[in-house]
Amino acid sequence: MRTKSKTRILVVEDDTTVRLTISKLLGDEGYDVSTANDGFDALLHLQQAIPELILSDLNMPQMSGFELLSVVRRRFPEVLVVASSGAYDSIAVPTGVIADAFYAKGQESAAELLEILAHLIRTGPTRRKGESAPVWIPRNGKDHDGKPFVVLTCTQCLRSFPFTVEHEASGEVLKTPCIYCPHEVTYIIDFSRSVNSPEKRAAWKAAFLKSQKESSEATLSRVTAEMAEPRMTKSARLQNILNRT
Ligand SMILES: [Zn+2]
Repeated sequence: MRTKSKTRILVVEDDTTVRLTISKLLGDEGYDVSTANDGFDALLHLQQAIPELILSDLNMPQMSGFELLSVVRRRFPEVLVVASSGAYDSIAVPTGVIADAFYAKGQESAAELLEILAHLIRTGPTRRKGESAPVWIPRNGKDHDGKPFVVLTCTQCLRSFPFTVEHEASGEVLKTPCIYCPHEVTYIIDFSRSVNSPEKRAAWKAAFLKSQKESSEATLSRVTAEMAEPRMTKSARLQNILNRT
């Protein structure tokens, strides 16, 4: 019989303070918690041990939660997934987000987060669309011709490639062929970063921290050391992960 104390949760969050706070919150609840500071870090953790549940922020540098969750859905379909973001006003799972549940930072308290996790662990996955779920990708900027471009990770071969977009369609599900394999990648361009203002983030953090105690110095220094590790380029890191598999 699975008990709460044995449930392993991987927390993926780029904000160190939030990561430590959530980690301590879940640890105090009796969960077996590990942490990752972005999508790549999370994939490395998944090679060591598969958790029962992943709680992932959606807006992270390097590899966003949207990209991470689309990879997780494909490779580890049995893992429960809770997406979290401060970018949406609704507490429902935003359209296109491939998660079993959604935690709206800023709208919901720490107690509500615990309730969401406990409920999902009790009831199991709510949906399994897997392969047809679109990839969410952040806007990357403009190329040398001034055209906006994005970097997409193929859900079949997991290679990344940049391509230009003719117009910045908002929230539309789009398709493009992978340049490496015959797969056609379904994707949505993620505009949440522009609505997820620093002020909104800071306000949520202050509110969350108010109800929680700070984590230990030991955990903080470990995480700080992890974050100081040199960064590889995105595709180099993905290839590196694939080579180890
Ligand atoms: Zn491909």
